[in-house]
Amino acid sequence: RVKNEGKAGYAIYQSEMYAQAQALWELENHLKLAIERQEFLLYYQPILSLKTLTVIGFEALIRWQHPQRGLISPVHFIPVAEETDLIVAIGEWVLQQSCQQLSAWREKYPQANHLTINVNLSNRQLEKDNFVYKLDNVLQQTGLPATQLKLEITETLLMTNLAAAIATLSQLKQRNINISIDDFGTGYSSLNYLCRLPVSSLKIDRSFVANVHEDSKNLQIIQTILSLGEQLMIEVIAEGIETQKHLEQLQELGCQYGQGYLFSKPVNCEAAEQLICAGLC
Ligand code: C2E
Ligand code: MG
Ligand code: MG
Ligand code: MG
Repeated sequence: RVKNEGKAGYAIYQSEMYAQAQALWELENHLKLAIERQEFLLYYQPILSLKTLTVIGFEALIRWQHPQRGLISPVHFIPVAEETDLIVAIGEWVLQQSCQQLSAWREKYPQANHLTINVNLSNRQLEKDNFVYKLDNVLQQTGLPATQLKLEITETLLMTNLAAAIATLSQLKQRNINISIDDFGTGYSSLNYLCRLPVSSLKIDRSFVANVHEDSKNLQIIQTILSLGEQLMIEVIAEGIETQKHLEQLQELGCQYGQGYLFSKPVNCEAAEQLICAGLC
């Protein structure tokens, strides 16, 4: 459109750019306030053993309870937060809150003892010199055993600074914290880092699961990831299991763990607690 409309089109283009920059700037400012006003909350999505169909843990997923706009999905604000250091403060809160919540459930319910909590990490968080120090503090404060914490990182994150990532992740490994590669297969996949990093699980991106029956290439990719996991003794979790058919297919392939709308959408902490109470774990 811009191309063909000459001067007028360019003016529109320019004002759209301006509007976009303005919106971004406003969002950043609102995010800063949201931290102060404690407008974030966590939802929890159960992760199940596909063998026993019992809950083995939860993934913590952030939401923004906006006073005017209601509940906002992380896809609308995490990428913006990641462009600035705002993600560091938000990420610290997520880590603290997740560990605290699981610790509280463990105190209340004996059946919660084996549960793990998955927390998504951003590049910038991991790059901070004091990341491990802060993490130690959170574990100490909340009393959550390090073995119950799983940190999810993406491939993109690893590739930007592999040497630094190795150093930090090794420290996490020493603490028996589980490192999980999120959205596996969609980033700048390199088998190199699987050799060099202390990775303990891979999460098959949900796009492969969604299309497993549409296009056989997806099935083959899932099979490849599963055999990779088996060879390297890394556990594999399938994301985005939406149908009984998906589940049966993954069970047949021998996939150990999974999460998805078939079992449960991410739910608030009361609903997650109900799942624990109901003895689904
Ligand atoms: P993710 O870590 O890959 O999380 C899985 C996303 O898939 C979640 O979206 C979840 O609701 C969605 N999902 C789960 N099962 C299904 C399914 O069966 N079908 C479909 N269509 N979707 C499913 P959500 O909660 O909107 O989060 C989106 C992304 O935002 C996350 O992707 C993660 O990258 C990021 N995110 C969420 N919370 C945090 C956080 O605390 N910190 C950081 N850095 N990123 C976060
Ligand atoms: Mg994740
Ligand atoms: Mg994912
Ligand atoms: Mg994702």
